[in-house]
Amino acid sequence: ERIVGGEADLNELSFEQSLRPQYLKQYIGQDKVKANLQVFIEAAKMREETLDHVLLYGPPGLGKTTLAVIIANEMGVNVRTTSGPAIERPGDLAAILSALEPGDVLFIDEIHRLPRTVEEVLYPSMEDFCLDIVIGKGPGARAVRIDLPPFTLVGATTRAGSLSAPLRDRFGVLSRLEYYTEEQLKQIVVRTAEIMNVEMDIQAAAEIARRSRGTPRIANRLLRRVRDFAQVRGDGTITIELADYALELMQVDRLGLDHIDHKLLKGIIEKFRGGPVGLETIAATIGEEAHTIEDVYEPYLLQIGFLQRTPRGRLVTEHVYHHFQLEVPAE
Ligand code: ATP
Repeated sequence: ERIVGGEADLNELSFEQSLRPQYLKQYIGQDKVKANLQVFIEAAKMREETLDHVLLYGPPGLGKTTLAVIIANEMGVNVRTTSGPAIERPGDLAAILSALEPGDVLFIDEIHRLPRTVEEVLYPSMEDFCLDIVIGKGPGARAVRIDLPPFTLVGATTRAGSLSAPLRDRFGVLSRLEYYTEEQLKQIVVRTAEIMNVEMDIQAAAEIARRSRGTPRIANRLLRRVRDFAQVRGDGTITIELADYALELMQVDRLGLDHIDHKLLKGIIEKFRGGPVGLETIAATIGEEAHTIEDVYEPYLLQIGFLQRTPRGRLVTEHVYHHFQLEVPAE
């Protein structure tokens, strides 16, 4: 398990649940997304209609599930949560949809992983709130149409590009979540510390924020682990010294990079003179799958300008040499 990984681990889920902001005004950051949603929600309420279907996309841990719950709360309806891989057959989807109350939000996480046969049943239900299903088999089979209560589908995906075009086109609202700024993460850390009832210096909050890779999930996770150190090695208060000490021991560096990032970046420097080097070659060198590098390790390194994608492969930038206090090679 990677302490700076974006995905939630299982024992983190109930902790996260207790931290979820419930309404838009408590949701820190993502100002553009929030401002748009505010208008669409208000308009739908004024017209007494359901909100248009919403697609949220962006890296893991940025608050997509949280926003889905907030949308339901703001609309004053219930939310039903499921995920693409959990809906295996059209019948599974039919069961979920027909159990909805009018106006409900259906949240489908990892929606790009819905099987194609399920997607095809989803289209008419998104458009016309009806289900076309076939009953029986062989010559006696017949198609029946079932009316559904109107609902709002909120889909979440880390890869908008792997959604099929017909599915993507059926969302009225497409919102892309961005990495958070250090200031926003600091606010999130302060808020979480208040909820957890721990004393923390503001510099410590800033330090945790700085090492959280723009991701609230990571910020909250680091805070929780730092609190353990404060309890065992200190008097319970999270001071800047204690935060530094704990984060150092957890091998999370000043930019939130861990040993895997170090291995990847130093590998490119030491073996390929900084690149460019193809993804497959990097993968073989550090013993990871190419798609894991692409989906999990690389996005943040690209975001902070440590890696560049070029037609000839990946290239480390000057920032990396400075970060590791190495001399930048002459051209
Ligand atoms: P995944 O797709 O991997 O499930 P996600 O994008 O749905 O991730 P969430 O589960 O919504 O992420 O958020 C992770 C944690 O971060 C939650 O505990 C949530 O409370 C917190 N969080 C996310 N965004 C915000 C925010 N804007 N303000 C405060 N806390 C937030």
